Amino acid sequence: MSLFDSPLFKDSFDQLEMAGSVGGLDPNIIERLKYPKRALQVAVPIRLDDGQVKTFMGFRVQHNMTLGPGKGGIRYHPGVDLSETAALAMLMTFKCALVGLPLGGAKGGVQVDPNDLSRQELQSLTRRFATEIAMIVGPSIDIPAPDIGTNGQTMAWFMDTISQYAGYTVPGVVTGKPIGIGGSLGRAESTGKGVAYCVNFAAQKIGMTIDKKTTVAIHGFGKVGVPAAEDLSAQGARIVSVGDVSGAIYNPDGIDVAKAKQYVIENGVIAGFPGAEAISNEDLFGLDVDVLIPAAIDGVITEENAGNVKAKIIAEGANGPLTKEAIDIVTRNGSFLIPDILCNAGGVIVSYFEWVQGLQNFFWGLDEINNKLHDILMQSFKTCVDTADEFKVDMKKAAFIAALKRIDHAMRLRGLFPS
Ligand code: GLU
Repeated sequence: MSLFDSPLFKDSFDQLEMAGSVGGLDPNIIERLKYPKRALQVAVPIRLDDGQVKTFMGFRVQHNMTLGPGKGGIRYHPGVDLSETAALAMLMTFKCALVGLPLGGAKGGVQVDPNDLSRQELQSLTRRFATEIAMIVGPSIDIPAPDIGTNGQTMAWFMDTISQYAGYTVPGVVTGKPIGIGGSLGRAESTGKGVAYCVNFAAQKIGMTIDKKTTVAIHGFGKVGVPAAEDLSAQGARIVSVGDVSGAIYNPDGIDVAKAKQYVIENGVIAGFPGAEAISNEDLFGLDVDVLIPAAIDGVITEENAGNVKAKIIAEGANGPLTKEAIDIVTRNGSFLIPDILCNAGGVIVSYFEWVQGLQNFFWGLDEINNKLHDILMQSFKTCVDTADEFKVDMKKAAFIAALKRIDHAMRLRGLFPS
């Protein structure tokens, strides 16, 4: 597989070229941004519990580090490959720039289904992967975080491994750590909370109120979907449908989010949740709801099914859940799209807060964190809306143009080395 092969890379590449030409940006800068700065592919051999050795493929890609150290998650998923990781690293460059963080874009992952491994095997995998990519990560080089299939425990093992080599604790090498070892308050819920904030900004923009008449469907009921559901239902909205790899459930009167969360903790999946009708994820995407939140994985809404979407607001909780063609279709059909690099940026924003707190050894209260998160997202939402108006483009293109303008400015100030 070459760097350019995955659908997500092709889409991100096209978005980059489009934003460059519509936004009138320097073609020499766009040329440089087409290629990741650095891509490392590693073998991750581990001994399984039965004594056998199995090797997994791992990747860390740093797309652009003009604005600061690389930043982006580590994904454990069978679909991870070099091209998808490179696309996700590129999206991180745009995401960090859009919301004004002094960070570049990176991403990593291991091609593995974490559900197939025991806790001990996962620890071995994480420690060996950390060792293999240690040469390119660090608090001022590149700072990983959780993504699909990884969590606070993964970050704790990663941080411990890097610290064992250093001979002292290096909290700033990762974010998304558990609170007990230097994590930030609010980080675990931050992506979903950010999605809920953005849904509120979008509702305000289109003249809709979030109340008990507001219906919401969420695809992906994990690290992003659950806190988004909790926040929106706390505001009175009705979560009528929730889906994951096992299928979806539907209850027009509203699903009890706390019970659904507990059910998933106990059963691993949402299928079989009592008191709701079983539907397919395709049915979920086509529901006549006010808000649709695809918060699982990329490429789930394509030109095939985008025509069925009826939601007034589509909030891209995942990275790249709608293909380029799907975005054109839903926008033409009148949906208001909150693009991924804005909608799910809450995670990396609070990651930035965690990194800063760790470097200063001074920790902030939850209200301060959530208020700062809210203000950054509100400002970034306004930037996207203003850019969409200025260039007469949809919100997705506007987000890319706004992000690129910041990167373009910084890259031109720094120049091309050697000159
Ligand atoms: N994995 C998350 C994302 O895609 C968070 C990255 C981070 O916190 O560095 O934005």
